[in-house]
Amino acid sequence: SERLLEVKNLRTSFFTHVGEVRAIRGVSFYLDKGEAIGIVGESGSGKSVTSMSVMKLLQYPGRIVGGEITFNGKDITNMPEKEMQSIRGNEIAMIFQDPMTSLNPVYTIGNQIMEAIRRHQGLSKRKAREKAIEILKLVGIPSPEKRVDNYPHEFSGGMRQRAMIAMALSCEPNLLIADEPTTALDVTIQAQILELMKNLKEKINTSIILITHDLGVVADVCSRILVMYGGLIMEEGKTEEIFYNPKHPYTMGLLKSIPRLDLGENKRLVPIEGSPPDLLKPPKACPFATRCPYTMKVCEEMMPPYFEAEKNHRSQCWLLHEDAPKIQVDTGVKR
Ligand code: SF4
Ligand code: MG
Repeated sequence: SERLLEVKNLRTSFFTHVGEVRAIRGVSFYLDKGEAIGIVGESGSGKSVTSMSVMKLLQYPGRIVGGEITFNGKDITNMPEKEMQSIRGNEIAMIFQDPMTSLNPVYTIGNQIMEAIRRHQGLSKRKAREKAIEILKLVGIPSPEKRVDNYPHEFSGGMRQRAMIAMALSCEPNLLIADEPTTALDVTIQAQILELMKNLKEKINTSIILITHDLGVVADVCSRILVMYGGLIMEEGKTEEIFYNPKHPYTMGLLKSIPRLDLGENKRLVPIEGSPPDLLKPPKACPFATRCPYTMKVCEEMMPPYFEAEKNHRSQCWLLHEDAPKIQVDTGVKR
């Protein structure tokens, strides 16, 4: 398979009046063409900042302070904003948690999709309208010929999120970055939107980065998962490895806190106690040491390196050291 994105040792900081907040502290990952990966972690773990860095959309006082980003074979780390804009417009699309932040309430849904299509593909008005209807149909909007003339407020929350996806897809991007795209939706609609993203990935071969705090969301869509904490990737592996053979205590904690249907409506098993590290003074050793149930002396003294649990499965945790005690954990996740 072909590489679409390669991020090497990315470091991003926010230069605030109280000092440098080291939001991303050395993150490396890749994404192949047509592949979907999940970036999972609590808020403040660095998952959104990672995607904003990749898009070069960091807001002041944020700045990339190190590393390399290669997109479609091009080094975009220091690419001028003008060129970056054309890449963002034509090759990368983003969807966010709240579609109302991206949909304009005073224009019809159809007009907004047509706008996007005409900007990217230079089609005539009539052709763009046909295409807009086709895309609305593709994302599962019922009677798209009528709905194309609706305003955003005439759509339900789930339909607005579909319309957002339609807009994002209108330029047939190589990469779709979805940041908590289903967080505001109820469980049924959430499942439909995820199913939709999965189908679209297969239909138009778009690569996807799905960012979420909820491991349950990425399971069906993504083939690989990166688990982030304290501005670092704590664990990375194939989806089934992360779910059934997790190696990092933070991943285990996230798995235990997935809402489980068999326990009743939205019942969370065990929340992870404590709070994430202060990245103004980031810990030099394991960032999870203050919350980890298995903390050893070395954890508080030295940053763990990445250990390979097996091929393509790495964990930044001292427990994988050959001299560490072997732990047995039941996360409650059943095959
Ligand atoms: Fe826990 Fe130590 Fe592993 Fe950090 S390195 S997650 S403190 S066991
Ligand atoms: Mg976020």
